[in-house]
Amino acid sequence: MEAVRINTPVRPAPAHLVPALSGSKTPVLSAAARRLGVLPMPNLAWTPEVERETAHLYEKIRSVMPPVEWPFHAPYVKAINDLKKQRNAVILAHNYQTPEIYNCVADVVGDSLQLAKLAASSQADIIVQGGVHFMAETSKLLNPDKIVLIPDLNAGCSLAASITGADVRLLCKTYPGVPVVAYVNTSAEVKAEVDICCTSSNAVKVVESLGVDTVIFLPDQYLAKYVAARTKVKIIAWHGACEVHERFTAEELNAYRANDPTIKIIAHPECPPEVIAASDFAGSTAAMIDYVKTQKPARVLLVTECSMADNVQAETGGVTEFVKPCNLCPHMKRITLPKILDSLIYLREEVVIDPALAVRARESVERMIRLG
Ligand code: SF4
Repeated sequence: MEAVRINTPVRPAPAHLVPALSGSKTPVLSAAARRLGVLPMPNLAWTPEVERETAHLYEKIRSVMPPVEWPFHAPYVKAINDLKKQRNAVILAHNYQTPEIYNCVADVVGDSLQLAKLAASSQADIIVQGGVHFMAETSKLLNPDKIVLIPDLNAGCSLAASITGADVRLLCKTYPGVPVVAYVNTSAEVKAEVDICCTSSNAVKVVESLGVDTVIFLPDQYLAKYVAARTKVKIIAWHGACEVHERFTAEELNAYRANDPTIKIIAHPECPPEVIAASDFAGSTAAMIDYVKTQKPARVLLVTECSMADNVQAETGGVTEFVKPCNLCPHMKRITLPKILDSLIYLREEVVIDPALAVRARESVERMIRLG
């Protein structure tokens, strides 16, 4: 597989990731808030009523959250669930969101592909993205008439930040006529320049659907290697990496296995190839969850973002013991209950995409969805 290295300068934070603040440091109201109004801040006290109304939700996460922590989260959980009804809003939460978000306020949970598809069929007026900025952009692309909010504009992604639309245009000039496949972990600006998107669950299928012998695959060099090992199509890769998954090492996994030879190790394809080779199974977050639910291993090591192990543990009810190396994604962890509450009250931060660019970016995503 060919690895493309084009020297690019260190880039400042993209303008769309800089929060809009007025000179007085008072947050500027979003267009949606000017239209629909700001709601009053709910009471956030821990009361018997809050305890009673959220007890069934705490039961869902009891195995991963000690009782002493719940009184801090429960008032937000109740307030957010009340405000969702008032605003006709839904919360989409990626598998890497913390258990109190994933299990207690989210309406839809899943990996990038699942969230993208479900975002497209949502009947809500407002979508709050529990995830990072490129996911919120994807939701906006598929729901151009809805208000899409990201609770923290700085929730970025090292993969999405590794490449720009100009980089893609340069690649296309270097390899004329070669189609470009972009992992969904890219900005709308990049999606607008490519032929089709993919996720880690459908990357091989998408590459082979193009019916050519060479494709440019971006931005994840490790997912590109994972795909290249499973197809005859020649892959020209970009050099991006997920800052969470590239930290895992084969030595680390081998040490866990030496300690317990019966442990099952399952890894995400964003990990380096030697980490995949040291694992029993590799697949998207949805495939990893499916593996745990169907295989029911006695002990499992999930080689991915740490919160997912908590969420799967909460869902699978104690059949499996989870070993958690706990690499956290700092971007995913920017999304918190207080910020989600603010989003619903102030309708911020609203995701806005240039309409002409959105048409081209949407086609790349919809082409992937049409593949099934
Ligand atoms: S876990 Fe990696 S790929 Fe996912 S949002 Fe964080 S940095 Fe991006």
